[in-house]
Amino acid sequence: MLQSCVAMTEPADIKIPTTLLPDDGRFGAGPSKVRPEAVQALAEAGATYLGTSHRQATVKDMVGRLRTGLSVMFELPDGYEVVLGNGGTTVFWDALTFGLIERKSQHLSFGEFSSKFAACAKAAPFLDDPQILKADPGARPGVEVSSDVDLYALTHNETSTGVAMEIERPAGASGLVAVDATSAAGGLRVDAGQFDCYYFAPQKCLASDGGLWIALMSPAALDRVQAIKDSGRWIPTSIDIATAVEQSKLNQTYNTPSLATIFLAVQQVEWVNSQGGLEWAASRCDESSNTLYGWAERSDYATPFVTKAEDRSPVVGTIDIDDSIDANAINKALRANSIVDTDPYRKLGRNQLRISMFPSIEPSDVEKLTKCIDYVVDQLAD
Ligand SMILES: *Cc1c(COP(=O)(O)O)cnc(C)c1O
Repeated sequence: MLQSCVAMTEPADIKIPTTLLPDDGRFGAGPSKVRPEAVQALAEAGATYLGTSHRQATVKDMVGRLRTGLSVMFELPDGYEVVLGNGGTTVFWDALTFGLIERKSQHLSFGEFSSKFAACAKAAPFLDDPQILKADPGARPGVEVSSDVDLYALTHNETSTGVAMEIERPAGASGLVAVDATSAAGGLRVDAGQFDCYYFAPQKCLASDGGLWIALMSPAALDRVQAIKDSGRWIPTSIDIATAVEQSKLNQTYNTPSLATIFLAVQQVEWVNSQGGLEWAASRCDESSNTLYGWAERSDYATPFVTKAEDRSPVVGTIDIDDSIDANAINKALRANSIVDTDPYRKLGRNQLRISMFPSIEPSDVEKLTKCIDYVVDQLAD
């Protein structure tokens, strides 16, 4: 008999009471919520900043503010440099493949993003095959220290699965520690002494837009970049880290950057720093994620996807939904009520919601979102 399976309520017809709705409905994993105050500031600066030369003081000062603000946020030790260039994280993987791996890298591969950098290194004909340590989605592998590995590739927060890891130099390792922090930087705690290259793009915790890469580099990483360059390896200029270092020290990029992206990133970094810095931002994400995971644990239809509580990301929550309820229908109903981008990572293929809790997102809005989901599920069952 089919009657019992027929859904009576069309998801898009569900009207969530306005008293339950979050103030801002953007919960996407990137591009993610940009604070309205930052957009307002950009509009005000528009006539004197946008549309002006990136080789002049107005823009160079903005790049300088970004570099200084990040040094403050991450309490960078002497000798570290904030380096930036165009292309976002994906392009920076190519830059690392050409410019920071000497011969052999080791990759912790536990989701879409971490597996992609591993694939870049594997495809490079001038490198040895990388060592790739895998874990199933929702878990994470550990580092295996090895004397022939000269770069350990870690991912602070695997955005595709909602798994986060602590960043620590592997004991006894001589290789550099390079960390994909695209969805972590500015929202998760990190000690700069534990990494050599902490890189990200600003469309996630930094609440800006895509297309830029930023790397916090230690003296050892900067030396490696120069040594590889001096060895005569061919490196395409647009992804040559040595060139980017030179340009960044002058508060410039090798080619034209998006001025709006830089401006919005400065707004976020200075906002976080003025509120109490990285610790403040991380606490805010803790508050949001405790709300989300606590709700899922109490719920009779939602469960945190990541089984080990200590691996659960404070900034990107993945929540499995009981098979009796179509998560897609929930997402459709939320979208019809201006709550957007709660869909799971495309390729993960689970009956799931993925909810970002970056520092820009109000913890109270995460709480309201859980109430909206309960409301929608209740309506779908009618
Ligand atoms: C979003 C993301 C990327 C990709 O960033 P792009 O700027 O789009 O290249 C890479 N790694 C992680 C962990 C991410 O979250």
